[in-house]
Amino acid sequence: MCDALNKEKDLFDKCGSFTDARDMIAQGIYPFFRPLESAQDTEVLIGGKKLIMMGSNSYLGLTTDQRVKDAAINAVKKYGSGCAGSRFLNGTLDIHVKLEEKLADFMQKEASLIFSTGFQTNLGVISTIVGKGDYVIIDRLDHASIIEGCRLCFGQIRKYRHNDMDDLKRILEAIPSDAPKLIIVDGVFSMEGDLADLPGIVDLAERYNTRVFVDDAHGIGVMGEHGRGTAEHFGLQDKVDLIMGTFSKTFSSLGGFVAGKASVIHFIKHLSREVIFSASIPPSNVASVDKALDIIIEEPQRRKRLWDITHKMKRGLDDMGFDTGSSVTPIIPIFVRSNEGVFKMTLMLHEMGVFVNPVISPAVPPEHALIRTSFMATHTDEEIDFALNAIQTAGKEIGII
Ligand code: PMP
Repeated sequence: MCDALNKEKDLFDKCGSFTDARDMIAQGIYPFFRPLESAQDTEVLIGGKKLIMMGSNSYLGLTTDQRVKDAAINAVKKYGSGCAGSRFLNGTLDIHVKLEEKLADFMQKEASLIFSTGFQTNLGVISTIVGKGDYVIIDRLDHASIIEGCRLCFGQIRKYRHNDMDDLKRILEAIPSDAPKLIIVDGVFSMEGDLADLPGIVDLAERYNTRVFVDDAHGIGVMGEHGRGTAEHFGLQDKVDLIMGTFSKTFSSLGGFVAGKASVIHFIKHLSREVIFSASIPPSNVASVDKALDIIIEEPQRRKRLWDITHKMKRGLDDMGFDTGSSVTPIIPIFVRSNEGVFKMTLMLHEMGVFVNPVISPAVPPEHALIRTSFMATHTDEEIDFALNAIQTAGKEIGII
């Protein structure tokens, strides 16, 4: 018998035959894991080349704010580099507790709880709160961490078509009326930049006795008069039961939190494996988030500037003839509708000195492949104009305008 027939299958075989990324590298069109040699700022350095950053989630530009950096440095001096344990046992610092109180105050909820990442926040909240016999209902375009959280939980999962309230109603009607239910939705959808139809969701939630949990990773600091997020934007803060945020976007650090009723937060705090069996965020992160929160509260002019830039970009791209979908936030997609076109445009823009994020299948269906642009309050008018011109040139070159 020949060797090939004799050979047993090995677990790692699939790794050797995974060639998608290697093919792209060989063709010189690989746009992922590009290493920055500078801070996450409006201008970044890659391979010694300066690029205007049009793909950051640091919406208020706080990653390089001196006050935020100093807060992190001072925390390291006082508390050291890490907590060496979970919040449950040795890893709680006084500044964790203070930050939780401050976040709860800011979100106008009774209590809040910090997790080590935003992703982990969704895993922890959903898997702890949705148990056997419960139902969790999600938008089809919800973030991957929500989907993973649902996969971890023991409840039944239902999905409704993106922002389709008739479909949500149909699903709610089909669930036994006495079963505990939770709707989970992104406040701001992270790729398309559109908003959840929270008024519609809250209305249905009230009619069908359902709790509501909003993932506002991209909304906090950006949406609402005070930056409290999508619920504030719609005037529905007290109608949303749980709101989560991450520290990796406007807060310019790493970590996540959930805010809600004290009894619910207390329950999650004591039963979530993601809290109990994972180390707490280091002092530098806590302190920088705390300082970023002060700035979110005290400097609304940053939010205003971000919105001015967003409106200018959206108008500019729409006038040029780009398809920017239904974005109403500082995340503006440019629909290219083919993976190949997205790669070409990303590389062309890179060459011209503009960093954008390629979003292709399987993250979105191939016909939805897009370039994700996102903006920072600290972008200058010159940077915005430069990027608009470059995007126009690239768009013409690949034939989408
Ligand atoms: N929710 C949403 C909507 C997100 O966009 C992200 C980050 N991409 C997360 C949760 C996870 O947050 P983090 O990256 O801070 O873990």
